[in-house]
Amino acid sequence: MTIGIGLKNLLSNPIKFSESSTPQKSKAQQRADKLSETQRPGQPFTRAGKKATADVNAEKNGGKVVCEYCGTETVKVKQSKKGVVPPQNELQIDHKIPQSAGGSGTPNNGAASSRSCNVKKSNKY
Ligand SMILES: [Zn+2]
Repeated sequence: MTIGIGLKNLLSNPIKFSESSTPQKSKAQQRADKLSETQRPGQPFTRAGKKATADVNAEKNGGKVVCEYCGTETVKVKQSKKGVVPPQNELQIDHKIPQSAGGSGTPNNGAASSRSCNVKKSNKY
């Protein structure tokens, strides 16, 4: 009796294993999660936090870091020079919840942003 029910259940509810049903977190995402464990309310991002945020973004966009607000591909500016205005698509890491409102300086509150979007956002106050 119990065996019969068991067999019936097995046949009517075939268990499917597919890779998409259990997505593995990428290394970048794992690193971002790890860095987000200790919240940094009202504080800036760490270098590692910025990098992790950009890395997670790049993974979703085929290796390019794309502004999460306007979709522009961003560029990394290694060093700012005196008198040289940085490009509008310079990569900046934005606090989704503003730092001034106690937003955490960790990847879970980070968004890759172009310079122009980040400037627009901070001018809203
Ligand atoms: Zn943008």
